[in-house]
Amino acid sequence: MLTGLTIAIIGGDARQLEIIRKLTEQHADIYLAGFDQLDDGFTGTVKCKIDEIPFQKIDSIILPVSATTGEGVVSTVFSNEEVVLKQSYLERTPEHCVIYSGISNAYLEGIASEAGRKLVKLFERDDIAIFNSIPTVEGTIMMAIQHTDYTIHGSNVAVLGMGRTGMTIARTFAALGAKVKVGARSSAHLARITEMGLFPFQLEELTEHVNDIDICINTVPSLILNQSVLSRMTPKTLILDLASRPGGTDFKYAEKQGIKALLAPGLPGIVAPKTAGQIIANVLSKLLADLKKEGK
Ligand code: NAP
Repeated sequence: MLTGLTIAIIGGDARQLEIIRKLTEQHADIYLAGFDQLDDGFTGTVKCKIDEIPFQKIDSIILPVSATTGEGVVSTVFSNEEVVLKQSYLERTPEHCVIYSGISNAYLEGIASEAGRKLVKLFERDDIAIFNSIPTVEGTIMMAIQHTDYTIHGSNVAVLGMGRTGMTIARTFAALGAKVKVGARSSAHLARITEMGLFPFQLEELTEHVNDIDICINTVPSLILNQSVLSRMTPKTLILDLASRPGGTDFKYAEKQGIKALLAPGLPGIVAPKTAGQIIANVLSKLLADLKKEGK
């Protein structure tokens, strides 16, 4: 139970509703900013504007997955009003106040550090990243089906990167009957790819492995599908780039080569916002319970 904890949930999309639901069930006191158009009246919550939040008694601030823009604007789908997170708000919170966001940026890190408040980037955690790979692969399958006229079964698929997302993508596409090869740079990853019965290759040698691919799924957050790689691909290849913005593809060059390349950010929030919200809510409720145990 989170009785006695006071939490501000600022902005976000449908995923935040699962967080609000979970934390209200556990009897936290919740202030909601950026939710004025939300019809669902969660009991135990107070809707207000961001500057009306009593920051002096807030134990934790929960931001959306996307955190803020570089100017501090918090995106929210439940309000038309601009919601801006300012350093002065954080300075008013008690010293133990912890800020949770999915990812972060220089603005948020700057104001949290200046105010002396701890910032936790939830998407850096293995548990969240691994759970999130489940809706991510489902979204990737959806996109592959939407943008091809052949089955995944029997197609040649290359997965770039063998991290938390890449491994799930590789395993699931293989289970659907695709012929999967996976590019990685560490020998441990190459060993794991072999153990999984898939074809491993060194990412350094990517140019030698792209001429026969139907679907190339990138999870490496670095410009890996560059001009020299793309010039070896045929226009029949579909690139689905899952890496965080700006992705790992030279999209302009791909277009020039007639290769369809799609940046596909935020798939969990698109294909399964409820599950994606529950993944965050479950981890958050444990972290907040620990915060409470530590005496805030
Ligand atoms: P991860 O576990 O850190 O895996 C990243 C992989 O990329 C690792 O195999 C890593 O290799 C490799 N890599 C990183 N930089 C590289 C470089 N310069 N050259 C070669 N390989 C490199 O990350 P993840 O959780 O799988 O996430 C991967 C990306 O997908 C992130 O950008 C994440 O934000 C994004 N993502 C997108 C969605 C979506 O909906 N589109 C969903 C989830 C995640 P090493 O292990 O050798 O470093």
